[in-house]
Formats: sequence, C-alpha cells, structure tokens
Amino acid sequence: MLSIRSVKSDSFIGKCVELRGWVYRKVSLGGKIFIVLRDSSDIIQCVVDESKVNSRTWSNAEKITRESSCIVRGVVKSDPRAPGGYELQVSDLEIVGLSEWFPIRGNEGVDYLLDHRHLWIRSRRLQAIMKIKHTVLEAGREYFNRNGWWEVTPPILTSSACESGATQFEVNYFGQKAYLSQSAQLYLEALIYTLDKVWSLTPSFRAEKSRTRRHLAEYWHLEAEAAWYGMEDMMKVVEELVYYMVERVLRDRMDELKFLKRDTRILENAKPPYPKITYDEAIEILQSKGVNIKWGDDLGADEERVLTEEFETPFFITHFPKEIKAFYMKLDPKNPRVVLGFDLLAPEGYGEIVGGSVREDSYDALLKRIIEMGLNPEEYKWYLDLRRYGSVPHSGFGLGIERTVMWIAGLDHIRDAIPFPRFRERIYP
Ligand code: ATP
Ligand code: MG
Repeated sequence: MLSIRSVKSDSFIGKCVELRGWVYRKVSLGGKIFIVLRDSSDIIQCVVDESKVNSRTWSNAEKITRESSCIVRGVVKSDPRAPGGYELQVSDLEIVGLSEWFPIRGNEGVDYLLDHRHLWIRSRRLQAIMKIKHTVLEAGREYFNRNGWWEVTPPILTSSACESGATQFEVNYFGQKAYLSQSAQLYLEALIYTLDKVWSLTPSFRAEKSRTRRHLAEYWHLEAEAAWYGMEDMMKVVEELVYYMVERVLRDRMDELKFLKRDTRILENAKPPYPKITYDEAIEILQSKGVNIKWGDDLGADEERVLTEEFETPFFITHFPKEIKAFYMKLDPKNPRVVLGFDLLAPEGYGEIVGGSVREDSYDALLKRIIEMGLNPEEYKWYLDLRRYGSVPHSGFGLGIERTVMWIAGLDHIRDAIPFPRFRERIYP
C-alpha cells in the first residue's frame, strides 16, 4: 500500500497509483470535484473530472462526504496550484465507509471538541502533535538504551502515597484501599539494588485540585533512578535526555513543527549544559522583579513563568527548602534547611518539566523525615527496608512527557499533548 507522502515525488509523476484514506475536504466546481484525501502521512488533492471518469466513479464522487473512507486510483501529476505541488487525476473512486454528517468543523469551543475527542483526534493539528510525541518517546527510550540503563515495569496499583496524599486516586482493591500510582519512584529505588540504573515509562495519576494549563489527572511519566549517582551526575542525565529529545524532534519532525508554526530557534539553541540557579537565587530574582514572595514559599506556575523570562534555554533550580519538597529528598549536609533536589524548567513561560533529587539513603534520617512530614512509618516499612539491606547513595528524576511535548511543540495547553485528556470535572471520551 502506498502512502500519500510517498507518491508526492517527481518519480511518481505520470504513474498510476492506488491510495487509501479519508476525505479531508471536498469542493465541487463545474464538471470537477476536488477531494482532498488524507492518511497518516499527508494530504493530496484528487481531481475527479466528469468528462474523464465512468458514471459510477462520478456518482461516488458526488455522493462521498467529508471523513468518508475510500480507495482512489489515478495518475500523479505535478501542479504548482495544488497544495504540496502534486495532485491525483482520478480514474476510479470507491467508497468504503460513507460518513454521516461530520459533527466537527474545527471552530467549535473547547468543551464541544473534548466531547468529540474521539473524532477531533483526526485533525491535522492533533495528528502532528501525536507524531511529535511519538518521536519524544522514541528518543527517550533510545537515550536510555544507548547509555546502559535497564527498562523496568513498576506497578500502577500501589499501597501507599509517593508524592502527596492530597492528590491520590483511591481504588477499591478487593475490598481494601489501594491507590493509583503518582510516581514509580519508590519501586525504581528498590530495583536499583539489582539493576543499578533503571528507568520506566508509566501513566501517573494526580487528583489535582484545580484545572490548569499544565496539569492532567493522568499523564505519562518517564522516570529514572540510579545507584551511586549524585546530584551533578543526575542533572547531567536530565539535560542530555531532554536535548536528545529536542534534537530528534528537530531531525525527524520538522514538517510537524512547521505545521504548528513553532519557532524552532529556541529548540535549536537548547544545547546543554543548562544554567543552574539555587532556590535562594530564584527568590532574589523574583523579589527584584516585584513578585510578592518570601523564602520558604513554593514556586507556582506564575512564579516559574517570571523566572523563565531570564533564560533562553531550559534551566535548573536547585536546593529547595525541605518543607516544600517530598520526604525522600536528601538534606544538603552543608545546609540541612534545603534538599539536594532540582527541577528543570523549560523556557518561554513553560516552567517545570522535570523534578529530581538525591534520595535519603540513611535509615535513621529517612525515618525522621517521614515522622516530621506527618506520614505513617508503617506504610513505608518496605521502603525503609531498602536502607537496611545494603543502602547505597542514589538519585533519580521524573519527566512529564506531556509537559515536554507541550514545550517542544509550543502548545498553549497541555490537553493537546495527549489524545484523551483527563481533567477534574468528568471523563470525556
Ligand atoms: P507541579 O509542581 O508542576 O504540579 P510536581 O512538582 O507535583 O509538579 P513532580 O511530582 O515533581 O511534579 O512530578 C515529576 C514531573 O511530572 C513534573 O516535573 C511534571 O513534568 C510532571 N507532572 C507532575 N504533575 C503533573 C500533572 N498533573 N500533569 C502532567 N504532568 C505532571
Ligand atoms: Mg516537582
């Protein structure tokens, strides 16, 4: 089977081909019907000329509707007026699935389009974004494979919280309480004791309180954890990984970036090493710009946006106050008010795409933090065990795939970085 993209080439001019796809647009003009056909690769204009086809093909062309599936045969011609420079002079048109009146024109409101998401994913915009996501995922897997990491498969049903109890989804697990995973981290930590360097790609679930432009209730989480790695080692992995993804999208998805009108200069300049500022410096920058914030406050989307104005590449913020970060982050021995943690923020207002840290590897220190944070040590018994049997210094991070796609593709909302987004109010298709 030939793809539309493959026949749009000079070597096909004058050749008779068969294409399969869906009707993207249809216009009738005098004795001609112009059908723009789409498949996963591209679109092409197909011209049905009443004087050149048999009556069956002509009546099919008259009958066919937008989004119908069909098989078209004809000769490839070059035509500078056709979109993309090539068109198909149709000799035969066969309808496979005649479409009812398609309920989307493309200018409907957000909620209507979410309600019709199962159909709206056919749009060229979402198609382009899904292809970019494919390449981001491919690059992530390739980066780890090339650098000696093991891919592992942690569970989604879990018995205790990782990030915060407030954003957990509870499920009925054979009559007992269980939770949908917010992060694979605790399990990845267990796995480094046998595989040294591990990574996983899983859905993570967060019952976020409010609906924002960068939070989903279900997102794809790429996480990595490595024994013997310190803060600098892990930040190096993060910047290499992110740039590997950016580079790969620039190499393989330029058409899609152009279609989305993405300014690619920022991406081209996103070469590591990325700048690093401490949380203290971030607070100073924010205060000097008139933001009302004091030491100890968490950085929300608004604060992050202001900080991103200072940088043209992704950048790290490090050494956060321990109160605003998770219990498992190791305290900085030089200043135990802050943790050995880092976030990577994407420029252009996007903000956090990665969160990582050195993990506490001392049994006593970890137990103390669990109690300090008001958590129940009983629930973390197995996790504490990891510090009893051959504890090892280690670090890790989690990268939000949709956040990364959102930045690389230049999207203004996270919803389009996933085909079937889940938000607070209800589940759309
Ligand atoms: P934020 O402060 O932006 O809510 P977080 O600090 O809760 O994020 P982490 O727990 O560090 O996030 O999760 C690791 C990564 O997962 C984040 O850097 C982000 O890329 C992604 N992420 C977290 N929550 C969400 C969400 N609700 N939707 C999409 N991606 C998310
Ligand atoms: Mg974080």
